[in-house]
Amino acid sequence: MMAVATGPNVPDLSIDTLGSGDLYGPDRSFVMVPRGDILGSHDVAIEQRFGDSPVVTALLPPPKRSFACELGAVPPAARARMEGCSWRGDDPRCPRWDALAYLRVDHVTFDGAIGEGELVVATAIAARSVELFRRLWQLGFPIRQLRLVDDYGASDDASMQADNSSAFNFRTIAGSQTLSHHALGRAIDLNPVENPWRKPNRIEPPAGAAFADRRDVRPGMIVRSGPVVVTFDELGFEWGGDWLHAFDDHHVMIR
Ligand SMILES: [Zn+2]
Repeated sequence: MMAVATGPNVPDLSIDTLGSGDLYGPDRSFVMVPRGDILGSHDVAIEQRFGDSPVVTALLPPPKRSFACELGAVPPAARARMEGCSWRGDDPRCPRWDALAYLRVDHVTFDGAIGEGELVVATAIAARSVELFRRLWQLGFPIRQLRLVDDYGASDDASMQADNSSAFNFRTIAGSQTLSHHALGRAIDLNPVENPWRKPNRIEPPAGAAFADRRDVRPGMIVRSGPVVVTFDELGFEWGGDWLHAFDDHHVMIR
C-alpha cells in the first residue's frame, strides 16, 4: 500500500508530487495515477486507485536470469522467408540486406515465463533496439509474441490481430502511398491488441477495443506516464502514443 495523503484538503496532488519513485507498488507493479482523475475528484480517485483493492499493474515480476540476445546479419533462412513478402528487392527503395539486422531476443510472456522472439530492424537502430528489449525484460513488461511479419504473409492487419510485435515490413502507411518507417526497419510495434491504434471513431486491431480505456492499465499496456515510455524517451524512440492526428500506442520509431 502506498502512503498517499487523502482528504479534501490535499492541494495539487498529482503525478509530479508523488514522484516517480512512488509509482512502483511493493511488487514493482506500476501504479497509474491519471492526473485528471486526481485533480477532478480527490477522494473518489484515491479510493479507487489505492483502496484495499490491488494496485493497477502493467508489469510482471522480472525474470531472475539476465537478458540474452543475438544480433547479426539476416540469416539465409530468414531471408528466404522474407523475400517477396516483407522484403521487396525489386523496389529500389527497399533496404538492402546489409542495411538490415536480425535480432533474437528474450522477452517476458504474459504468464510470467520466458519467451524468445525474432525481429528485423535497420542496422542503424539495431543496438538501440537490443537495449530497448533488455530494458523491457528488466521491467517485467510482457510481450505476447515476436515473430517476423512474414509469418502473417506480411499483412499488418493479420499480424496486429494476432497481437504480434514486429518491426521491418516494406509497406506503405495504411491508406496512403507513403512508405512507413517499418519499410526502412526504423519502427517497432509492441503488443498491438493491448496498445491499439486509435481515433475517436476507429480502433485497430478491433480486439484492441477492450483496451480503449487507457486509464485501466493492464499487463502489456504502454501508457504515459509510465516506465515503458520513460525507456522510449531515454533511448530516443519517438512514441506513437504522443501523436495528435491518431494515437498509435504500439508504435515506436527512430526517424
Ligand atoms: Zn507501427
